Amino acid sequence: MEISKELQEAINDQLNFELYSGYIYLSMAAYFESINLNGMAHWMKIQASEEYEHAMRFWEHISDRAGLVILKTIEGPTREWDSPLAAWENAYEHEKIVTERIFKIGKLAEKLGDKSAIPLLNWFYEEQVEEEEQTQKVADLLRMIGDNQGALFMLDGRLGSREK
Ligand code: MG
Repeated sequence: MEISKELQEAINDQLNFELYSGYIYLSMAAYFESINLNGMAHWMKIQASEEYEHAMRFWEHISDRAGLVILKTIEGPTREWDSPLAAWENAYEHEKIVTERIFKIGKLAEKLGDKSAIPLLNWFYEEQVEEEEQTQKVADLLRMIGDNQGALFMLDGRLGSREK
């Protein structure tokens, strides 16, 4: 089924938002490098590449259904945070926004009776559970760690071992 203009627009917006997410995480990577938390920086770089993959999933869906992919201007991300915890909290809050946005696309697809978009959206519902969990866990650990520099560097090392 050819994609409707309305759903195409919503998915295009989300494609751009995923690229924006990647941009935010790259900005966080730069921030973490600037304060010598290279493990967190590494984690964020991998996360950024994952966001690019998310964008491409939306891309393929539009393209497979004879739609038109439209790339828009990507807003400049925040460049500095007050602390590593503030950055991870920001990442968690951002992922909650992503989840809400994808739910909204789901509601639109339902309203339009567009069943072809359901498998794609289902994949994202699951993915978002993981995205929220990962960022929330690190924020929780950082709250637990508090001022303990040793524990902070241990956590940083662990995040530096992320492979994909
Ligand atoms: Mg994403």
